[in-house]
Amino acid sequence: MQRLTVKHIVLLIIIVVLAALLVQKSGFVKYPGDYPKILPPVKHRVEFSRDLITINIQEPYDTSMIVVYAYEDPETLLCIIKNVYENNVSLRPGDFADYAVSVKNHRITGHRMLKISGRYTEKKDMFGLFSSAQDEGRFYGVQRCLYPVCRTCIEECDLVTGSGEIALEMFTGERGEIHPVLYRGKCPRCGHCYVKCPMKEIVKSHTMGK
Ligand code: SF4
Ligand code: SF4
Repeated sequence: MQRLTVKHIVLLIIIVVLAALLVQKSGFVKYPGDYPKILPPVKHRVEFSRDLITINIQEPYDTSMIVVYAYEDPETLLCIIKNVYENNVSLRPGDFADYAVSVKNHRITGHRMLKISGRYTEKKDMFGLFSSAQDEGRFYGVQRCLYPVCRTCIEECDLVTGSGEIALEMFTGERGEIHPVLYRGKCPRCGHCYVKCPMKEIVKSHTMGK
């Protein structure tokens, strides 16, 4: 009986060691021990001319894309995803919005795609909209976050924290830009959001031990 128990214990130790090695090798361990950090709005300057709007990003920016947005009315923002070349983004007449987002009291209430499989279901000229937003005092600018077209951080966080206790939520900020907000008390610091965010809107903070 005792021999059988020892055998079992040895077997159990082998299984645990093998499982630990497997987990380590497959990269399942993702607890870097750091909270996520949401970056502040992108600093930029806009120059308007007759047929060209140039947006110059005035901070280090190492992502190849950015979202240019302008509000059509207080509850609708239109967005186009643009390439960034040497910190500059160009907007020309005929650049149509990719999607529209509905907001109410800083919360995202819905969205609709305006370009599906390369074809526009509705053409909303971003050059004209951006210019009129400036003339008429509506919000316009650039943001990193692709939400709700991208939902990676929300989905990852939901998987980790469980429904109802999610540590991230999306809002619009003071300039109308869309960005995540972190509820720190609900965050077990799994790191999934900042490891997987394609736009580097969420990054790893270095708050531990400080
Ligand atoms: S995915 Fe959620 S739980 Fe994980 S680090 Fe990000 S905010 Fe925290
Ligand atoms: S993963 Fe990044 S880009 Fe996607 S919704 Fe979250 S913050 Fe925005």
